Amino acid sequence: MASISVTLPDGSVREIAMGTTALELAGAIGPRLAREALVAEVNGTLTDLTSPLTTDATVTFHTFNSDEGKEVYRHTTAHMLAQAVQRLRPDAKVTIGPAIDEGFYYDFDTEPFVPEDLEAIEAEMRKIAKEDHPTQRSEMSRDEAYALFDGMGETYKREIIDDIPGEETLSVYTQGDFTDLCRGPHAPSTRRIKYLKLTSTGGAYWRGDEANKQLQRIYGTAFEKKGQLDEHLALIEEAERRDHRRLGTQLELYSTHQDLGGGLVLWHPKGALVRHIAEDYWKERHLAGGYDFVCSPHIGRSKLWETSGHLEFFADDMYSPLDIDGQEYYLKPMNCPFHILIYKSRQHSYRELPMRLAELGTVYRYERAGALHGMMRVRGFTQDDAHIFCRPEQMPDEIDRTLGFCLDMLRAFGFTQFELFLSTRPEKAVGDVQQWLDAEDALRAALERTGIPYEVDEGGGAFYGPKIDLNIRDSLNRQWQCSTIQFDFNLPERFDISYIAEDGQQHRPYMVHRALFGSVERFFGVLVEHYAGAFPVWLAPVQAVVLSITDDHREYAEKVRQELADAGIRVEADVRGEKLGYKVREAEMAKTPYMLVVGAREIENEQVAVRTRQGNNLGAMPVAAFIERIQEDIGSKV
Ligand SMILES: [Zn+2]
Ligand SMILES: [Zn+2]
Repeated sequence: MASISVTLPDGSVREIAMGTTALELAGAIGPRLAREALVAEVNGTLTDLTSPLTTDATVTFHTFNSDEGKEVYRHTTAHMLAQAVQRLRPDAKVTIGPAIDEGFYYDFDTEPFVPEDLEAIEAEMRKIAKEDHPTQRSEMSRDEAYALFDGMGETYKREIIDDIPGEETLSVYTQGDFTDLCRGPHAPSTRRIKYLKLTSTGGAYWRGDEANKQLQRIYGTAFEKKGQLDEHLALIEEAERRDHRRLGTQLELYSTHQDLGGGLVLWHPKGALVRHIAEDYWKERHLAGGYDFVCSPHIGRSKLWETSGHLEFFADDMYSPLDIDGQEYYLKPMNCPFHILIYKSRQHSYRELPMRLAELGTVYRYERAGALHGMMRVRGFTQDDAHIFCRPEQMPDEIDRTLGFCLDMLRAFGFTQFELFLSTRPEKAVGDVQQWLDAEDALRAALERTGIPYEVDEGGGAFYGPKIDLNIRDSLNRQWQCSTIQFDFNLPERFDISYIAEDGQQHRPYMVHRALFGSVERFFGVLVEHYAGAFPVWLAPVQAVVLSITDDHREYAEKVRQELADAGIRVEADVRGEKLGYKVREAEMAKTPYMLVVGAREIENEQVAVRTRQGNNLGAMPVAAFIERIQEDIGSKV
């Protein structure tokens, strides 16, 4: 029999019979690999372990430990989900079922599922795993595939086949009584799927388009070890506990209203107070950092958006125009054109640069109704925006200080882990190539200076300039899009802005857009989830609450409250005739950092008994000592 040679990751070469499967090769290398391997990478292409090897090749095996392995594992589980659903609901039509970050989903055309359905489906999936169905891949022509799926009554598959480019081979995967159109690869057998869980269900539109039929989506996940699954489920539960939409209602931070319209946020007093404190800090830091504040309106004439190019390139994200005296006006999707008009209002000398114009500017952008999510994805939001205009020789320093400023601000809000990305010049780009390179150098140098590793997306920049994106990681290690530092070689041209240099000639300044929080709404939502609503003392809407034990202690409670208020502490007094335990629980639910209990003993000693929201008893102390303590917390932003 003819033999082929395979090169393994350690560089060793093996001669094997042509037609040996990757799984057999894994078995020859070691029984453990054969047990754990999920998919083979043959000459760089992911391939089923059950496929025969037919040419000389470099072969790598992926287990659950690699991203590729996890994806195949969960994708295979998604097929088992579809198989189980069709066993229990033979009329359900299948559509698509990809692996996603941390799990998978599958969309079905059927009646909505209820939690009991998920339990039954899960049990059926475990049965399918036990049945140990091997993966069978077969390739077929387009007509054969149409005939197969039409015969099964799977009408969505025809649409999917129509979308597959003509030159691509069509493949179907069969495991026992279930066959599905799929590119693959799959794990070698259903028995390989050890620990699975269906996590939620809900509506989803076919192809994500609200004009199409609503399907029923089931989300799930699968792991190789029980401990991994348990840990993941605990994380989901914790994320639900911290959900800013839930806490937003519980802590009376914000609301939305059907009559108001989706994606529009109402900030309630407590939420607005936190925002006010955050914005005050932002303003203080910006003034100290050499920024000038500007304010601009919410709408502008179409002429402005034509000049800026927004109507040409950004119209899909903008709302329909308003008619004012026969002229078209648009809600602003960005603040930039306004800031440029301010810059352009008169001639500037090189001595005035850099000029940093900052605004907490509310913008409006179209988002699909289905994409709206609490405060994280909305239709009207406030950008903590700034536009920097500077001379070429100032640019590297300016970028460096902007990134440093950005990290410093985010650290003040308690974030310590950042993911940084540099996006460079795409093929289609405006502006001078040398300027692009200089700008990229400045961004890279600033990134290097932070000492934080960063990723480069070569060619991934916008057509008008390179940028740095910064994501923050929250306490559950989830990434959130946050800051951007974006060069612009387009708007200065379009608006023809300039400054008079030392040579007496007009020159084009560099222009940089930057936002630190990004969207104030999203940043607030992230803060709520990061802290599970227990804001650090400096941000907490109520920093302390005085709790009287009985009506006899009312007067003293009021006196203490006044003393703290006079010291600038945000304090309330709860002097209702409720039991102390009840009042403590309420204050804990409200996540108030300090509870000051006052009764006969405290009155006699002119003290307060201090409890924290974590349930720690700090004992009795004079009011002045407590004020000192809380002011220390506020000063150090803990
Ligand atoms: Zn598949
Ligand atoms: Zn801008």
